[in-house]
Amino acid sequence: MERIHNFSAGPAVLPREVLEQASDELMNWHGCGMSVMEMSHRGKEFTTILEAAEADLRDLMKIPANYKVLFLQGGATLQFAQVPLNLMAGRSADYLVTGDWSKKAYKEAQRYGDARLVASTEAEGFTRFPAQAEMDLDPDAAYLHVCTNETIRGVEAFDEVALPASVPLVADMSSHILSRPMDVSRYGLIYAGAQKNVGPAGVCLVIVREDLLGHASVHTPTLLDYAIQAEHVSMLNTPPTFAIYMAGLVFKWLLDKGGVAAMERINVEKARRLYDAIDGSGGFYRNPVAMANRSRMNVPFTLHDPRLDEAFIAEARGHGIVQIKGHKSVGGMRASIYNAMPVEGVQALVDFMADFGQRHG
Ligand SMILES: *Cc1c(COP(=O)(O)O)cnc(C)c1O
Repeated sequence: MERIHNFSAGPAVLPREVLEQASDELMNWHGCGMSVMEMSHRGKEFTTILEAAEADLRDLMKIPANYKVLFLQGGATLQFAQVPLNLMAGRSADYLVTGDWSKKAYKEAQRYGDARLVASTEAEGFTRFPAQAEMDLDPDAAYLHVCTNETIRGVEAFDEVALPASVPLVADMSSHILSRPMDVSRYGLIYAGAQKNVGPAGVCLVIVREDLLGHASVHTPTLLDYAIQAEHVSMLNTPPTFAIYMAGLVFKWLLDKGGVAAMERINVEKARRLYDAIDGSGGFYRNPVAMANRSRMNVPFTLHDPRLDEAFIAEARGHGIVQIKGHKSVGGMRASIYNAMPVEGVQALVDFMADFGQRHG
């Protein structure tokens, strides 16, 4: 059976080659006579898998040696609590709100300490990433939390150099990690739930600079203490072994493809085709995000007449295009075009959009 064009925001499409390899290895991983799901997380087979995943991620992202890589559970949502528990250390923390996810992170942090809002674009409908001059930054904050790609509104921060750097930057990169080269050294901590651009749901990547470890609040559950997790190499308890294995296969696939710089070229092309289709539709399709912040991973768009939404979704399905409905808070459509979405999938959507626009315009 042919695979469908899956534009889900997450859990999302995975590379076909990765699924095929996982399928080949499912019953008997590398001749050991069992599945990855069935092996001890402390055995030498799984240790090999975990070490390779970390080494490949370090290679892909050029992660400096003074950063720890953790494979945790609880998704990005648990990081909204885990970050303040570990890093606030009795001080206040700055939060930039540029969309639904960073707003959630800000709200959750208020449960653990003094979370300060440095700027919010909510009044403008979350359609851009603000400049540093607009932020009311505290030079003594424990950290500044940002979401560098807002998955729901499709707002991406591209200019790393323009991000404030006077205090450690904490970035939620759940929906665009590994989509292009990023300078890890600019961040104190990066986190990303896997199910968008990395692998299946169940594992969350945390990349954290070593000097930020060891300041957790006394109320921090042992399992949520980064320093203790780092000391135990993410194996304080049973890690999500199969999800880590799958993420590891995705890392190998990315290396095979030429790494994140090669992915960026493809992602630029995919995004260009889709935004061109929207902008060139004479107002039939619309995306309200500022040009400089239009996400390459999540492309929300509305139809000029929302009464056409249902027909669009139904007809798209007939063309093998699924999970295209926009988030309920925004309406319209959203096409998530992560690394694993091939150019052909985007082209199929673009062709369908043109055809639908002609018939209903
Ligand atoms: C999906 C998403 C989250 C939440 O991820 P979970 O793994 O479901 O907790 C947080 N932040 C961003 C940017 C996301 O895209």
